[in-house]
Amino acid sequence: MADTIYTPQNPLTQYPGPPFEKQQQTGPGDIHDMKPRPDHGEESYVSGKRLAGRKALVTGADSGIGRAVAIAYAREGADVALAYLPEEQQQADEVAALVEAAGQKAVLIPGDLQDESYNTTMIEKTVQELGGVDILALVAGVMPTVDSIEDFETETLDHVLKANIYTLFWTTKAALPHLKPGASIITTSSIQGFQPSPSLAEYAVSKAGIANWTRAMAGQLAEKGIRVNGVAPGPVWTPLQPAFVPNEKIESFGEEAVFGRPGQPAELAPPFVFLASQESSYISGETIAVTGGTPIH
Ligand code: NAD
Ligand code: MG
Repeated sequence: MADTIYTPQNPLTQYPGPPFEKQQQTGPGDIHDMKPRPDHGEESYVSGKRLAGRKALVTGADSGIGRAVAIAYAREGADVALAYLPEEQQQADEVAALVEAAGQKAVLIPGDLQDESYNTTMIEKTVQELGGVDILALVAGVMPTVDSIEDFETETLDHVLKANIYTLFWTTKAALPHLKPGASIITTSSIQGFQPSPSLAEYAVSKAGIANWTRAMAGQLAEKGIRVNGVAPGPVWTPLQPAFVPNEKIESFGEEAVFGRPGQPAELAPPFVFLASQESSYISGETIAVTGGTPIH
């Protein structure tokens, strides 16, 4: 049985499974006559730090969604390794200071996720410095816009697939020997993976691929008690937008969302916390839409 909803443990064996004792009640039924008794949280649902004692790696942790996730993870009690590009050092230093101000350990690991060996050393350094790893929040991503297939370049697609997709395989393979039952992997898809904009074909296939990778990897890793889920953001106010979207589009950024505005990175952090925490013990293979009301499925 679960100690608390936050105690990391194998979700497959956290609660009783079949075969169950034969039992029949007359409606409407009574919880007291069920064998075994269902857990409604009477003892297990507690309030408190949701990631106490956990060790997380967050990619893209210097800015935007990754920065918000790193801050939230630290304030929920996790030590956090921060991965980012070398030119983002200053923003990453700010995040490290925020993690430390929350009383947690921060490790800075700059590098380029397109490079397979960096993915491996990123995991090794996390394990070395934090004494293990049990949460991978894979947030980093790139989003080039290409308006016409006439402008398609192999190089662009290679770049997108390396930075957005290959890294998921490399990181997960390297981390696997360290991931214990109760560990959690969280990917970052996009509304673009479900409803692609014409000028984001390269990006959109990568984001659809991430959601599909999430389902496949959830199936592969279930027997190890490792859950794999994703978050699919709608428009979010981060540097990705002014960095990749042509200037004339930024003025109306987010108006297409049902809520009529973009989300803030802080509005994305709670689902990353939820999916990292044992409280989401019965969820795997899912990608949660955080889109300001716009349906994706
Ligand atoms: P962001 O620019 O703040 O974060 C992206 C991060 O990715 C960068 O900070 C950088 O550290 C990292 N990164 C990029 N290329 C890298 C590389 N080659 N090696 C190592 N790190 C690299 O923007 P964000 O919006 O917070 O993006 C985070 C994730 O959210 C991305 O995967 C993005 O596709 C996804 N997303 C964003 C939006 C949005 O509207 N902002 C919408 C849907 C999905
Ligand atoms: Mg950045």
